[in-house]
Amino acid sequence: MKLTNVLNSGRFSLSFEVFPPKSETDFESVASAAEEIAKLSPSFVSVTYGAGGGSRGKLTAKLADAIKRDCGVETLAHLTCVAATKGEILSMIEEYKNAGIDNVFALRGDLPQGVSSALSPEYKHASDLAREIKARGDFCVGGACYPEKHPESANKAEDIFYLKEKVLSGCDFLTTQMFFDNDLFYNFLYRLRDSGVTVPVLAGVMPITSAGQVERIVKLSGSFLPQKIENLVDRFGGDPFAMKQAGIAYATEQIIDLYANGVKNVHVYTMNKPDVARRIKENLSDIIGK
Ligand code: FAD
Repeated sequence: MKLTNVLNSGRFSLSFEVFPPKSETDFESVASAAEEIAKLSPSFVSVTYGAGGGSRGKLTAKLADAIKRDCGVETLAHLTCVAATKGEILSMIEEYKNAGIDNVFALRGDLPQGVSSALSPEYKHASDLAREIKARGDFCVGGACYPEKHPESANKAEDIFYLKEKVLSGCDFLTTQMFFDNDLFYNFLYRLRDSGVTVPVLAGVMPITSAGQVERIVKLSGSFLPQKIENLVDRFGGDPFAMKQAGIAYATEQIIDLYANGVKNVHVYTMNKPDVARRIKENLSDIIGK
């Protein structure tokens, strides 16, 4: 089923994200965590794509297929193109088709260190990939967006300009980079709608579950960390259980505020942690229904 049916239904959708193992050896343990997450009945589960692609890319297809087949939950398979040849991309699209995947998330991927533009001759931007996926099958295609702008964008206006181009290239919906201050999302959404983009936008929420994660998040995503999160880390960072509970509570509060302000689609970066997904779902049970 195409995710646009879920995202445009007018009902609240809560989706979760998992990532594939680095190698086939670890597939069973990752699949069992992902299936535990899928059994919580999210609106869908997205499966990320290892930056390097290749055999690891095939594990994205295999995991998405297992979740859909064994748990009956719709999936979204990611695909990146930063260093891929046309042949590799066409072969992955075929792999997704054969696995019965209806929804693909088109990404450029991060540039390798010291490189200033994509290495792929055919796919310089995610919009080139979105166009290719649409041309090769009856897929629902999603793309990434950045409430605080992508780090490579010169400013927010330029960021929205190219984002609009990405939607025109075939993205049926967008999912945001994680953000920790909902006002950043509301401001982004206002600017995006003002530019004429009308596709559903899923708000990406990352529950912080350890002090070490905070440093990695800031380094990788550049997302703004409100003082409130720094206070939680200062107070609870030394106690893993307390930190996890505080991080889940913070993410829950974010989701409730999004819901209260009319946001219909929320995507949670659950990172192969079934207990985090379960506790968030439980915290919201009377608000969004079981
Ligand atoms: P693009 O849309 O190509 O944008 C990258 C930059 O290029 C932006 O600054 C944009 O404004 C600019 N740009 C776009 N088009 C043009 C143009 N025509 N001319 C000039 N400039 C242009 N990474 C993974 O490796 N695997 C994953 O599974 C994964 N999942 C993700 C999921 C989400 C929701 C998000 C937000 C990110 C994810 N990423 C993933 C990280 C992502 O690959 C990086 O953020 C990457 O740096 C940019 O990818 P993009 O698809 O947004 O690129």
